[in-house]
Amino acid sequence: MNATAHPSPGSGPPPDALPVSVQSLGSGSSGNAFLIQRGDHLLLLDCGVGIRTIRAALSVRNRRLDQIDAIVLTHEHIDHVRTIPQVIDARTPVIATAGTFAMLRIAERQRHPIGPRQSIDIGGMRLWALPVAHDAHEPCGYLIEMAETRITIITDLGAWHERLAGAVEVSDLVILEANHDEEMLRRGPYPPHLKRRVASGVGHLSNRDCGMALAAISRRGGTTPDVWLAHLSDTNNRPTLAETTVREALARHDVQLPVSALPRREPGPVWTPRHVPVAVPAAGYVPYDEPPPAAKAPTQLGLDGIAGF
Ligand SMILES: [Zn+2]
Ligand SMILES: [Zn+2]
Repeated sequence: MNATAHPSPGSGPPPDALPVSVQSLGSGSSGNAFLIQRGDHLLLLDCGVGIRTIRAALSVRNRRLDQIDAIVLTHEHIDHVRTIPQVIDARTPVIATAGTFAMLRIAERQRHPIGPRQSIDIGGMRLWALPVAHDAHEPCGYLIEMAETRITIITDLGAWHERLAGAVEVSDLVILEANHDEEMLRRGPYPPHLKRRVASGVGHLSNRDCGMALAAISRRGGTTPDVWLAHLSDTNNRPTLAETTVREALARHDVQLPVSALPRREPGPVWTPRHVPVAVPAAGYVPYDEPPPAAKAPTQLGLDGIAGF
């Protein structure tokens, strides 16, 4: 594994095409995890579903827990880290931002901090951290670049930001939060403070905002990724409603994408690239070069959102 601040043009994962697969093992406030496989290499992205689910998913791949190449974390919320103690062994590398590590008890030697505009390569998978606005210490999504394909996973964010568009534009699979229907949240049973938190700029992305972001990017870039809607609320959303809202937003921009909502409490389908290129596409991902954020007052949640990244 090695970290690269600025990859040179033309560098990238090796050109030999290997089988790639991605599967959600659960997506929502009760637990999140994705298993990403490239050839013999396995990443567990977030670690919030039950250990039996993780073991079962590994077992069908003829793998064991100690054969996971790395655990990759988006942030420290319990629905993303709950099962770490049962999954991690003394050798498993963990990739997360410094802010996320500061909130977790993980041995120093296992920590591989990743920052914005920086990548870490593991098993031919180049991980880029994508800073997001969410009420955690230093949350992020990830772009994973391989010779065969690119995948973007962004599951907990209060607001869309243009800096995320570059990753979505180059991806064949986009996994994006569609947490709630705004009307269901407004009328639903959550107490007022929780409604405010979910709808805030550091809470969770609504179906409408998810659809608008995808539509704008797809229209502009002419890309047609497969889209999985993630982290759906049990109380304030329905899978068909999320899918319909996103499809309608896309249709308003004359865009059609294969959109499906991930199951909340059980594993979802296994995704594989539709076509496997024989070499790395010439233009790799270029991280969003953002001016340093201006100092701003903390929000009512006592967090400074994206300014903290
Ligand atoms: Zn979450
Ligand atoms: Zn969260």
